[in-house]
Amino acid sequence: MSHPASPLPFRHLYVHVPFCRHKCGYCDFNAYAGMDRLMGGYQVALERELERARAALPFGPLRTVYFGGGTPSLLPAELAGRMLAHVSASFQVEPCAEVTLEANPASVDPERLDTWRAGGVNRLSLGVQGFDRRALAVLERRTDGAQAERAFRQARDAGFENISLDLIYGVPFQTRASRHNRAYWECRPVYGAGAGAHSYATDGERAWRWWNVARPREYVAAAGAGAVEAGREELPPARARAERVMLGLRTTSGLEPPPGFASPLRSLEEAGLVVRRGRRYAPTRRGLDLHNRIALAVL
Ligand code: SF4
Repeated sequence: MSHPASPLPFRHLYVHVPFCRHKCGYCDFNAYAGMDRLMGGYQVALERELERARAALPFGPLRTVYFGGGTPSLLPAELAGRMLAHVSASFQVEPCAEVTLEANPASVDPERLDTWRAGGVNRLSLGVQGFDRRALAVLERRTDGAQAERAFRQARDAGFENISLDLIYGVPFQTRASRHNRAYWECRPVYGAGAGAHSYATDGERAWRWWNVARPREYVAAAGAGAVEAGREELPPARARAERVMLGLRTTSGLEPPPGFASPLRSLEEAGLVVRRGRRYAPTRRGLDLHNRIALAVL
């Protein structure tokens, strides 16, 4: 695979775990049920991919590591322990790094919690999906409020102090901002490992995005054959800047835009979608709701 000539080092790592107990009807994540037998082979494939990435690309000490899915908490403790140990043995992880694992309350138990803690996880993202039983039934979630409370208490007992509850009320996802999410919004290089994972690299001007084979079985085969990449694109400097502005205007803190955006930002300000504070621009409440209009104006 060809990579950018002088990319900035990766300080953020995402690892995708595509397994789920049940495929929810509303879910469009790269997630699969009934594939647990593939878990061992998938771990081997992840190790191969990470080893190749480390040899081919510059990695700095990692500031965030995020195990997302799918349902990473479904991995049996032994496999999860192996996955965590592999990452900490292969990469330098900053002592104060944020290491997140997404967990479904139904698969949280003391043994897994201890394994995650021992493996360096210091933040749990519990997919609680609301506490209303009827809403849960509609959403097909096999989680109820009591289970979520139990998982939360057990996680506290195991020593987790940073626990975010990802709730779905109705439809919109209310994902808590993590340091890892901020890396995406600020267009910092993020290496994504695993089935269907996306990576983003930049040399400060141009940017590159590539993504892996999505289906777990094919991903495992591709890792064995030596290349898991399914596609890539190069973003010329103008496009990379525009994406940075578009994503920066998705956060309440906004951004200081690079030159060249005065005219679209003026129209967005007149439309009440962004507000100027000194040299920074930030979205208004309305701008956050109508972010697609901001995206259209700057891209
Ligand atoms: S548990 Fe989550 S990732 Fe898995 S299918 Fe349901 S919504 Fe998608």
